[in-house]
Amino acid sequence: MKEELEFRLSVHPDEIKEQRKLGWAEFHPETFCHRCGGKNVRSWFVAHEYFNSAVEALGLTSAAIICPGCFVVGHELTSGLWCTWELVPYSPFKPEELK
Ligand SMILES: [Zn+2]
Repeated sequence: MKEELEFRLSVHPDEIKEQRKLGWAEFHPETFCHRCGGKNVRSWFVAHEYFNSAVEALGLTSAAIICPGCFVVGHELTSGLWCTWELVPYSPFKPEELK
């Protein structure tokens, strides 16, 4: 029996077209947070076990695209703890033209 894979977009393609019409030429589903609607940082990560439990606490799935601020909210919800987060550059740094 062949298993069908289902691919779900978190943003409907029409939404991308609409944002581009509004002048957000670089609009991409990962450029904004799907929870708060704020701008997402270009690239970030956290250990998957932290991410998965945080998005679950927010009522989202591990495929969710969220900003670091919303991740922290989810982490506090799921852990009941708060902490100071350290932002550390992850090399290699990339030239601006590769963004
Ligand atoms: Zn957010």
